[in-house]
Amino acid sequence: MGRKITPDPLNRKLELPDSSKGSILKDMIDFAKMATDNGLIYGNFGNLSVKYSDEIYITRSGAMMGNLKKEDIIIFSGDIPEKSSSDSPIHYGIYQKIDYGAIMHMHGDFTIILSLMLKDIRPCDFVGDRFLGTIPIVEGEFGTTALTTAITSSIHNNAVIVKGHGSFTIGDDLRKAFVLSCALEASCKLLYYKHVYESSTSKKEV
Ligand SMILES: [Zn+2]
Repeated sequence: MGRKITPDPLNRKLELPDSSKGSILKDMIDFAKMATDNGLIYGNFGNLSVKYSDEIYITRSGAMMGNLKKEDIIIFSGDIPEKSSSDSPIHYGIYQKIDYGAIMHMHGDFTIILSLMLKDIRPCDFVGDRFLGTIPIVEGEFGTTALTTAITSSIHNNAVIVKGHGSFTIGDDLRKAFVLSCALEASCKLLYYKHVYESSTSKKEV
Protein backbone atom coordinates (compact mmCIF):
# COMPACT_ATOMS: atom_id res chain seq x y z
CA MET A 1 0.00 0.00 0.00
CA GLY A 2 1.35 3.43 -0.91
CA ARG A 3 2.11 6.12 1.60
CA LYS A 4 -0.63 8.58 2.39
CA ILE A 5 1.52 11.36 3.77
CA THR A 6 0.21 14.35 1.87
CA PRO A 7 1.30 16.97 1.47
CA ASP A 8 5.00 16.56 2.15
CA PRO A 9 5.72 20.08 3.34
CA LEU A 10 9.07 19.53 4.95
CA ASN A 11 11.08 17.88 2.25
CA ARG A 12 9.87 17.54 -1.29
CA LYS A 13 12.54 14.98 -2.02
CA LEU A 14 11.22 11.79 -0.50
CA GLU A 15 14.03 9.47 0.51
CA LEU A 16 14.27 6.40 2.60
CA PRO A 17 15.94 7.02 5.95
CA ASP A 18 19.40 5.65 6.56
CA SER A 19 18.90 1.93 6.74
CA SER A 20 21.56 1.05 9.26
CA LYS A 21 20.27 -0.27 12.56
CA GLY A 22 22.74 1.84 14.51
CA SER A 23 21.54 4.99 12.79
CA ILE A 24 17.89 4.24 13.54
CA LEU A 25 18.64 3.53 17.21
CA LYS A 26 20.65 6.74 17.52
CA ASP A 27 17.88 8.76 15.88
CA MET A 28 15.29 7.31 18.25
CA ILE A 29 17.42 8.17 21.28
CA ASP A 30 18.16 11.67 19.99
CA PHE A 31 14.57 12.55 19.04
CA ALA A 32 13.13 11.12 22.26
CA LYS A 33 15.45 13.46 24.16
CA MET A 34 14.59 16.41 21.92
CA ALA A 35 10.89 15.74 22.42
CA THR A 36 11.45 15.74 26.17
CA ASP A 37 13.63 18.85 26.06
CA ASN A 38 10.93 20.63 24.05
CA GLY A 39 8.22 19.76 26.57
CA LEU A 40 6.27 17.51 24.23
CA ILE A 41 6.56 14.58 26.62
CA TYR A 42 7.85 13.96 30.11
CA GLY A 43 8.96 11.02 32.25
CA ASN A 44 8.15 7.68 30.69
CA PHE A 45 5.09 8.89 28.78
CA GLY A 46 4.87 9.09 25.01
CA ASN A 47 6.56 6.81 22.53
CA LEU A 48 8.08 6.70 19.07
CA SER A 49 8.82 4.20 16.38
CA VAL A 50 10.49 3.69 13.02
CA LYS A 51 9.58 1.16 10.36
CA TYR A 52 12.22 0.15 7.93
CA SER A 53 11.93 -2.81 5.60
CA ASP A 54 9.91 -5.44 7.48
CA GLU A 55 10.99 -4.37 10.95
CA ILE A 56 9.41 -1.98 13.42
CA TYR A 57 11.62 -0.28 16.00
CA ILE A 58 9.59 0.98 18.97
CA THR A 59 10.28 2.19 22.47
CA ARG A 60 9.85 -0.18 25.38
CA SER A 61 6.90 0.22 27.73
CA GLY A 62 8.00 2.38 30.66
CA ALA A 63 11.19 3.66 29.02
CA MET A 64 12.38 7.08 30.20
CA MET A 65 12.14 9.10 27.04
CA GLY A 66 14.64 11.77 28.04
CA ASN A 67 17.30 9.17 28.73
CA LEU A 68 16.52 6.41 26.26
CA LYS A 69 18.99 3.52 25.99
CA LYS A 70 19.48 1.12 23.09
CA GLU A 71 18.04 -1.67 25.23
CA ASP A 72 14.84 0.41 25.57
CA ILE A 73 14.16 -0.06 21.86
CA ILE A 74 12.32 -3.19 20.79
CA ILE A 75 12.66 -4.50 17.24
CA PHE A 76 10.06 -6.83 15.82
CA SER A 77 8.61 -7.93 12.52
CA GLY A 78 5.77 -10.25 13.46
CA ASP A 79 3.74 -10.47 16.63
CA ILE A 80 3.94 -7.42 18.87
CA PRO A 81 6.25 -8.17 21.82
CA GLU A 82 4.67 -7.85 25.26
CA LYS A 83 7.39 -5.53 26.56
CA SER A 84 7.00 -3.00 23.75
CA SER A 85 5.02 0.22 24.20
CA SER A 86 1.37 -0.27 25.09
CA ASP A 87 0.60 1.86 22.03
CA SER A 88 2.33 -0.64 19.75
CA PRO A 89 -0.95 -1.81 18.13
CA ILE A 90 -1.59 1.81 17.09
CA HIS A 91 1.87 2.17 15.56
CA TYR A 92 1.48 -1.20 13.87
CA GLY A 93 -1.92 -0.18 12.49
CA ILE A 94 -0.60 3.11 11.13
CA TYR A 95 2.28 1.32 9.41
CA GLN A 96 -0.27 -0.80 7.59
CA LYS A 97 -1.19 2.46 5.84
CA ILE A 98 2.14 4.24 5.36
CA ASP A 99 4.30 1.13 4.87
CA TYR A 100 7.47 2.71 6.23
CA GLY A 101 8.56 5.85 8.02
CA ALA A 102 8.32 7.08 11.59
CA ILE A 103 5.66 7.84 14.20
CA MET A 104 5.83 10.00 17.32
CA HIS A 105 3.22 9.94 20.07
CA MET A 106 3.45 13.11 22.19
CA HIS A 107 1.58 14.66 25.12
CA GLY A 108 1.80 18.36 24.30
CA ASP A 109 -0.04 20.48 26.90
CA PHE A 110 -1.80 22.79 24.45
CA THR A 111 -2.62 19.93 22.11
CA ILE A 112 -4.38 18.16 24.96
CA ILE A 113 -6.18 21.28 26.20
CA LEU A 114 -7.57 22.10 22.77
CA SER A 115 -8.60 18.49 22.18
CA LEU A 116 -10.99 18.93 25.10
CA MET A 117 -12.42 22.15 23.65
CA LEU A 118 -12.73 21.51 19.90
CA LYS A 119 -13.85 18.85 17.45
CA ASP A 120 -10.79 19.30 15.25
CA ILE A 121 -7.75 21.57 15.07
CA ARG A 122 -7.71 24.26 12.37
CA PRO A 123 -4.46 26.18 12.83
CA CYS A 124 -4.68 29.96 12.69
CA ASP A 125 -0.99 30.46 11.92
CA PHE A 126 0.85 30.16 8.62
CA VAL A 127 3.04 27.19 9.55
CA GLY A 128 0.17 25.19 10.98
CA ASP A 129 -2.15 25.98 8.10
CA ARG A 130 0.49 25.25 5.49
CA PHE A 131 2.15 22.19 6.98
CA LEU A 132 -0.53 20.58 9.12
CA GLY A 133 -3.93 21.52 7.75
CA THR A 134 -6.99 20.42 9.71
CA ILE A 135 -6.07 17.82 12.31
CA PRO A 136 -8.82 15.39 13.36
CA ILE A 137 -9.54 14.64 17.01
CA VAL A 138 -10.71 11.15 17.91
CA GLU A 139 -11.74 9.64 21.19
CA GLY A 140 -12.04 6.22 22.72
CA GLU A 141 -11.03 4.10 25.64
CA PHE A 142 -7.29 3.62 26.02
CA GLY A 143 -5.98 0.29 24.81
CA THR A 144 -9.09 -0.73 22.90
CA THR A 145 -9.27 -1.93 19.34
CA ALA A 146 -11.93 0.71 18.72
CA LEU A 147 -9.50 3.51 19.59
CA THR A 148 -6.76 1.97 17.46
CA THR A 149 -9.16 1.80 14.53
CA ALA A 150 -10.30 5.39 15.08
CA ILE A 151 -6.70 6.61 15.03
CA THR A 152 -5.51 4.62 12.05
CA SER A 153 -8.57 5.48 9.98
CA SER A 154 -8.31 9.20 10.80
CA ILE A 155 -4.62 9.79 10.16
CA HIS A 156 -5.08 10.43 6.44
CA ASN A 157 -2.74 13.36 6.36
CA ASN A 158 0.10 13.70 8.85
CA ALA A 159 -1.33 13.82 12.37
CA VAL A 160 -4.23 12.85 14.57
CA ILE A 161 -5.07 13.82 18.15
CA VAL A 162 -6.64 11.60 20.78
CA LYS A 163 -9.01 13.63 22.95
CA GLY A 164 -7.54 14.44 26.34
CA HIS A 165 -4.45 12.38 25.63
CA GLY A 166 -2.04 13.51 22.92
CA SER A 167 -1.00 13.36 19.30
CA PHE A 168 0.35 10.91 16.75
CA THR A 169 2.41 12.43 13.94
CA ILE A 170 3.90 10.57 11.01
CA GLY A 171 6.75 11.28 8.61
CA ASP A 172 9.15 9.63 6.26
CA ASP A 173 11.64 9.74 9.11
CA LEU A 174 11.78 10.82 12.75
CA ARG A 175 12.96 14.33 11.90
CA LYS A 176 9.79 15.03 9.98
CA ALA A 177 7.53 13.39 12.55
CA PHE A 178 9.27 15.44 15.27
CA VAL A 179 8.96 18.72 13.38
CA LEU A 180 5.27 18.08 12.85
CA SER A 181 4.84 17.35 16.56
CA CYS A 182 6.50 20.68 17.37
CA ALA A 183 4.41 22.50 14.75
CA LEU A 184 1.20 20.96 16.07
CA GLU A 185 1.91 21.95 19.67
CA ALA A 186 2.89 25.47 18.59
CA SER A 187 -0.27 25.84 16.49
CA CYS A 188 -2.42 24.62 19.38
CA LYS A 189 -0.73 27.11 21.72
CA LEU A 190 -1.46 30.00 19.33
CA LEU A 191 -5.02 28.81 18.76
CA TYR A 192 -5.59 28.50 22.49
CA TYR A 193 -4.50 32.09 23.13
CA LYS A 194 -6.61 33.24 20.18
CA HIS A 195 -9.62 31.66 21.85
CA VAL A 196 -8.71 33.25 25.17
CA TYR A 197 -8.37 36.67 23.52
CA GLU A 198 -11.62 36.36 21.63
CA SER A 199 -13.44 35.15 24.71
CA SER A 200 -12.14 38.10 26.70
CA THR A 201 -13.18 40.57 24.02
CA SER A 202 -16.32 38.73 22.90
CA LYS A 203 -14.92 38.69 19.36
CA LYS A 204 -15.64 35.06 18.71
CA GLU A 205 -14.88 34.27 15.10
CA VAL A 206 -14.10 30.57 15.27
ZN1 LIG B 1 0.08 8.68 25.47
